[in-house]
Amino acid sequence: MEIHVELKTNSKMFCGCKNDPFHAEKPNTYTCPTCLGLPGALPVANKKAIEWTIKLGLALGCKINTLSKFDRKHYFYPDLPKGYQISQYDLPFCYDGKVGTSLGSIGITRVHLEEDTGKLIHQKVNGRDVSLIDFNRSSVPLVEIVSEPEIYSSVQAKEYAKKLRQVIRYLDISDCDMEKGGMRLEANISLQKKGETKLPNYKVELKNINSFRFLERGIEYEIKRQKEILDSGKTPDQETRGFNSEKGITYTQRSKEEAADYRYFPDPDLPPIRIDDKWMSEIKSTEPELIDLVFTRWEKDYKIDRKLTELLFETAEESKKLDEIFSNFAKQKLPVDKLVNAIVNKKLLINLFTTKVEEIISLFKKSIAVDDVSDEQLIEIIKKILSINQKAVADYKSGKTNVINFLVGMVMREAKKKIEFKRLEKLIIEQI
Ligand code: ZN
Ligand code: MN
Repeated sequence: MEIHVELKTNSKMFCGCKNDPFHAEKPNTYTCPTCLGLPGALPVANKKAIEWTIKLGLALGCKINTLSKFDRKHYFYPDLPKGYQISQYDLPFCYDGKVGTSLGSIGITRVHLEEDTGKLIHQKVNGRDVSLIDFNRSSVPLVEIVSEPEIYSSVQAKEYAKKLRQVIRYLDISDCDMEKGGMRLEANISLQKKGETKLPNYKVELKNINSFRFLERGIEYEIKRQKEILDSGKTPDQETRGFNSEKGITYTQRSKEEAADYRYFPDPDLPPIRIDDKWMSEIKSTEPELIDLVFTRWEKDYKIDRKLTELLFETAEESKKLDEIFSNFAKQKLPVDKLVNAIVNKKLLINLFTTKVEEIISLFKKSIAVDDVSDEQLIEIIKKILSINQKAVADYKSGKTNVINFLVGMVMREAKKKIEFKRLEKLIIEQI
């Protein structure tokens, strides 16, 4: 897989223009000679973008090239006025990393930094079909993450892509807004005979997918399509295909270029970049605890499943606030798992990141407080509820014990009080 992510630095990759294409009032407002690709304009690399790329590489367990450089990747397209994209070829900032999924870990070949292109808008003006170009996005820093060919199903591909988004949002270096194109997914798909270890002699690139579901569906479709071609004794064409989400099918876009077609060479306008020990330790000092370690720590300390805590936060900053809340809860012997459940299930509507810890604690205490009701009072209500819900009682007796949830709800509603679930459940079963 190849995944492109726009970094949310203040300025663009090679000029001082504002990097905020999604909020620009008008097209072509955040532009200058450099990002318009005018002759003679000189690029200057964005230091923050380089640091964030390395930060991401480190979070993915990559090795870092301490000597790196930018290269020109040539191709012609109207949204690329220079005739080349500044990218990285043989010396990417990061290489050789790893991302874990529940179906096995996936190697990261490289993480490199490049610039985004302008945006083409196809529309009618005065009755004529025209293509307009908006350069607000031109030269926005773009990180590309390339994986090893070690993904074996559409499900694993989806999990891998989601995991990457989680890590990137945690580092707070991109919003990964897929709808707006802030994160774009590409899958290279080819089929291999069972037991074969050699990579197939073709691959089909599925380009610019903007949702995890489309990624999964597109891959599934390709597997089916390619299998049919291979079964008929032919080899699928090496090409780039798009995904039509309405029809649920992929379609030919263009035949695929080889790397040599791009005529890569070092960009003479940008000096090579040396990352010395001092700079590297500065970058490392901004690296938060690995997100996987945060989840394991919480599982160990508070016995809460990462499937739940994953829903609570995005950034490392937010995970630190959760740490503070959790440890305060534990100190006061309050159940952290109950808090997490209440928040996830929206039983407790608190913004954990804008509310003071003391207030969260008092709101939580209030939410779990139960009313003072005697067993006698409750049994009276239970008897009444059971008598008008004979069917539920019969269901319970025949083994459908789930019906107890319904009965507990009915009793609570009738009592108009907050009563501990377990206590009510026990009393109802006794009465039945
Ligand atoms: Zn510019
Ligand atoms: Mn790229």
